[in-house]
Amino acid sequence: MDAQPPTRDYPSYLLLYRSGELERRVAQARALLGPTCRVCPRGCRVDRSRDEQGECGVGRHALLSSYGPHFGEEPVLRGWRGSGTVFFAGCNLHCVYCQNYDISQLRHGRPVSPEGLARVFMEVQSQGCHNLNLVTPSHVVPQILEALLVAVEMGFRLPLVYNTSSYDSLHSLRLLDGVVDIYMPDLKYSDSTLALRYSSVKSYWDVATRMMHEMHRQTGALATGRDGLAMRGLLIRHLVLPEDIAGSERALEFIVRELSPHSYVNLMDQYRPAYMAGQHPELGRFPDLGRYYEMVEYARSLGIHRGIPFGQ
Ligand code: SF4
Repeated sequence: MDAQPPTRDYPSYLLLYRSGELERRVAQARALLGPTCRVCPRGCRVDRSRDEQGECGVGRHALLSSYGPHFGEEPVLRGWRGSGTVFFAGCNLHCVYCQNYDISQLRHGRPVSPEGLARVFMEVQSQGCHNLNLVTPSHVVPQILEALLVAVEMGFRLPLVYNTSSYDSLHSLRLLDGVVDIYMPDLKYSDSTLALRYSSVKSYWDVATRMMHEMHRQTGALATGRDGLAMRGLLIRHLVLPEDIAGSERALEFIVRELSPHSYVNLMDQYRPAYMAGQHPELGRFPDLGRYYEMVEYARSLGIHRGIPFGQ
């Protein structure tokens, strides 16, 4: 499962930069902003190039909430110097239980230009982080690509982690092919009806599974270097929700049968009621830990053997 040590062609976007392809991708990504936004699958009838806002509440420029080394991520990301998280405000989902609702729904952040965002990328690199972890990036893919182009010219060389709820558009993911080395999709639900009820999003399962197929096609199962750090591939998260709202069995079956039994999976137990969860009795409480351990055993029985708590 180990990858080759870093070369002059890693991170992968360096190849695209040298060939001029990264600059073409930036132009193509800008075109997704309007006249109808196609950055994510919602397809809002707004022109974000004119600073109009759709469901995500973000116009022409990304909203930056915070950034810096983060030590709460998986060991393969945080290593010993931290994963360099960049939190973007706004979100294309509206989860009633969002743990970061002040950032995602209340949009606490400041508009940032491509040059400003590039300087943030550089600062994260100078802090010694192992990677640049783009948190909630699905609605700001053009802005990320714009900033990356500027940052590479400044000397930016960290691998990108695309930390997504998996409600992405194929337009955006195709533009990230050869740009993102580590995809971190959170597979939130396996029942689109429940996704609509609790996250106000249509066809979640169909979209998320198609996008995870695309991420897997681009990068494969997670490969790590000799230092144990993630280099390339998918790191999949799944949060077990109370009352089995996440549909965990089907989600795990999809990962093993349609992606790879060698997938790295973080099966998470840290659900806490937050934001508007109290308005939904089924979400206004802590999950049953017994059910969580049942899911761990089920995952093992399917052959999942990498990740948390399965082993690295
Ligand atoms: S990125 Fe935002 S504006 Fe564009 S389609 Fe998605 S939710 Fe709508």
